[in-house]
Amino acid sequence: MYSKDRKILVATTNPGKITELRAMLVLDIEWLGLSDFGDIDEIQEDGIAFAENARKKAAGYAKAAGLWTIADDSGLVVDALGGAPGIKSARFSGEKLKDEDRTLIDHRNIAKVLELLKGLPEEKRAAKFVCCLCLASPERILIETQGTLEGLITDREIGENGFGYDPIFFVPHLDKTVAQLTREEKNAISHRGNAIRKLKPLLEELLCG
Ligand code: IMP
Repeated sequence: MYSKDRKILVATTNPGKITELRAMLVLDIEWLGLSDFGDIDEIQEDGIAFAENARKKAAGYAKAAGLWTIADDSGLVVDALGGAPGIKSARFSGEKLKDEDRTLIDHRNIAKVLELLKGLPEEKRAAKFVCCLCLASPERILIETQGTLEGLITDREIGENGFGYDPIFFVPHLDKTVAQLTREEKNAISHRGNAIRKLKPLLEELLCG
């Protein structure tokens, strides 16, 4: 079994995610994005878990495009909020950023998390970033991986790099928020980086098999 012409669709319109996968996987693959297919209907992220959303998108787009497809779903899980924002991370404050703004720091969502955690001591501010990845062929699910990054939610924004909730996500062993890390430093420890590193040997095995 092999991917037709060694092409893999990354089920995103975010060019940053395609670049990141290509850079981290370093495989002899032609990576395509959803913008290479004008006529594919959007698949909704309406599952109740990150893994379910990633699976649904990978399987649906693989069928529609007739290609092996990688999809992801990710977000912030805060213990004191019972796991919220979770799968609603992109739209926690009600509005979802436009696709072209999704690589930006999301100050409205951040403000909501900070307000809900107001006054909570450090030991009750544990959180994690989670990323679930799924590779599917048009016929079946091939690989599923999950990566996490554990940390604490700060009481204010610190740092300007990254996107989403990065300025309020503090990584104790680095003594920095994710928004104070360079892109390379973030990739080395991030939930998405960890999920991609787990996927790589499994994908190599499939491609060689
Ligand atoms: P999606 O997986 O691209 O749909 O991302 C879901 C949402 O989770 C994003 O809009 C961000 O709010 C949040 N998120 C996911 N990964 C990160 C990250 O690495 N840093 C900050 N926020 C993130």
